[in-house]
Amino acid sequence: EQFFKILLIGDCGVGKSSVMVRFTEDSFTESYISTIGVDFKVRTVETNNKPIKLQIWDTAGQERFRTITRNYYKGAQGILMVYDVTNMQSFENVKNWSKEVENYSDLNLVKFLIGNKCDLEDERAVTKKMGEELGKSLGLRFFESSAKTNDNIEEIFTELAKDIDDKGFNV
Ligand code: GDP
Ligand code: MG
Repeated sequence: EQFFKILLIGDCGVGKSSVMVRFTEDSFTESYISTIGVDFKVRTVETNNKPIKLQIWDTAGQERFRTITRNYYKGAQGILMVYDVTNMQSFENVKNWSKEVENYSDLNLVKFLIGNKCDLEDERAVTKKMGEELGKSLGLRFFESSAKTNDNIEEIFTELAKDIDDKGFNV
């Protein structure tokens, strides 16, 4: 069976762990999910008419930039770069994450830009258009998501698996 290594990257609090837990366990909690060091969870998706196992790696946000090691990126085929649509700083930091990813990872890997917490429309600070434009300028497909309401979570991982598979990555 094929498996792909997927990384979740982005500022502390944007919902990386929540996105992973929603996708792998179909649950959500209002509290912060504590992540010690790195952790991964596995789920199989059906895409391109076959099962593909995704190994999803999550980091603690405190482990920022320099301290996330090269090893973490090693062997990854897909990256979700996540910001929080209610937090402008997390959006601006995507550019820093993107630079780091380019330093460490295989240039060929599939990256998506994710604006999470789209259920919080009243608190929104980053418009959908801004997300689309950043995605375009970085050459990344862009999605908004909500780990809380499950908006787009299945789609994101399924599309990511499909794009990786279409590239012909082999493990
Ligand atoms: P991480 O530091 O990036 O892993 O973020 P967490 O997954 O721990 O989430 C941080 C906080 O944001 C928690 O209080 C979550 O309940 C909340 N959160 C995460 N995703 C969403 C979402 O899609 N919508 C809303 N309303 N809250 C979210
Ligand atoms: Mg976390």
